[in-house]
Amino acid sequence: MSDVLVVVESAGGTPKKVTLEMLTLARDLGTPVAVVLGAPGTAEPLVAKLGEYGAQKVLVAEHDDLAGYLVAPKAAALAEIVKSTSPAAVLLGSTQEGKEIAGRLAVKLDNGVLTDVVGLSADGTATQVVFAGSTIVKSTVTRGIPLVTVRGNSLTPTPAPAQPVVEAVAVEVPDNAKLATVTQRVAEAKGARPELAEASIVVSGGRGVGSAENFALVEELADLLGGAVGASRAAVDSGFYPHAFQVGQTGKTVSPQLYVALGISGAIQHRAGMQTSKTIVAVNKDAEAPIFELTDYGVVGDLFNVVPQAAEEIRKRK
Ligand SMILES: Cc1cc2nc3c(=O)[nH]c(=O)nc-3n(C[C@H](O)[C@H](O)[C@H](O)COP(=O)(O)OP(=O)(O)OC[C@H]3O[C@@H](n4cnc5c(N)ncnc54)[C@H](O)[C@@H]3O)c2cc1C
Repeated sequence: MSDVLVVVESAGGTPKKVTLEMLTLARDLGTPVAVVLGAPGTAEPLVAKLGEYGAQKVLVAEHDDLAGYLVAPKAAALAEIVKSTSPAAVLLGSTQEGKEIAGRLAVKLDNGVLTDVVGLSADGTATQVVFAGSTIVKSTVTRGIPLVTVRGNSLTPTPAPAQPVVEAVAVEVPDNAKLATVTQRVAEAKGARPELAEASIVVSGGRGVGSAENFALVEELADLLGGAVGASRAAVDSGFYPHAFQVGQTGKTVSPQLYVALGISGAIQHRAGMQTSKTIVAVNKDAEAPIFELTDYGVVGDLFNVVPQAAEEIRKRK
């Protein structure tokens, strides 16, 4: 079977969930080969987890230049790897960085590129979900191999343990890829909560929460459940919660085991970012709210009555 390159995204020495999803997808298409692009030392802590999700080989392209500039060096290094390995497909995460590398790679290789893909079949047909989830598009690149960016939370990553061969790749970064230098990195202040896009439990608040202060109630329930906090666009536009936490068509896509929607009506643009959640619970005082079309458990009631009672009950059972 031909190699399928999976470009690894990681944080703090751990592969991101989207990487594990891509390895899971790659197993259906060929032989999963993980590609680590980064500063020296990036790959070492990642190899075991990549193997756990089926990477048969880990290609390690490490060089200070890959971290010292913006994405151009990574695209240049990846182009060389693709030329030398002739893979059946290349998968990147549909993140800001993944999409930018994919675009640059497509130009370098004169290859088509498809973004925000949620599925890819062995014949190269990609599935994309557009117009807030109302339309499914099937497409293929018309030139070259399938070069796709995979939208996070499109599938459930499943382990398939392998003992990957680790192979170092020589990296030469051309001068024209070094035109934008990274001068400083500032770690984002992170609380104890899990990352929204990767969390297995998400508790989101909408306009019905009423104010920034009242979001403490959403945070309290999220913390009791060990989950992340999300928000509707109406809530973030009203200044109740930061934009980075918006769930939906123009926010983050989440697909947790449990999604709790508090004071959210369930507009199509919100659904687009959470409708694949495994279990959906909503609290809304309007029995006609469209969110109830989606829910596994719906509570018609005032969230200021319901949520404190739920929190109390969870506390008792802890
Ligand atoms: C191009 C485009 C992109 C968009 N992208 C997004 C996106 O990414 N994410 C997103 O969320 N939206 C998005 N929207 C906006 C979307 O259309 C809705 O306006 C938005 O989702 C509504 O947010 P909401 O449900 O919090 O507010 P509302 O629709 O105002 O609903 C509030 C709900 O709270 C309930 N409620 C009020 N008080 C209480 C209470 N005390 N207890 C219980 N329930 C209560 C009400 O019954 C109501 O159902 C987008 C819109 C457009 C046009």
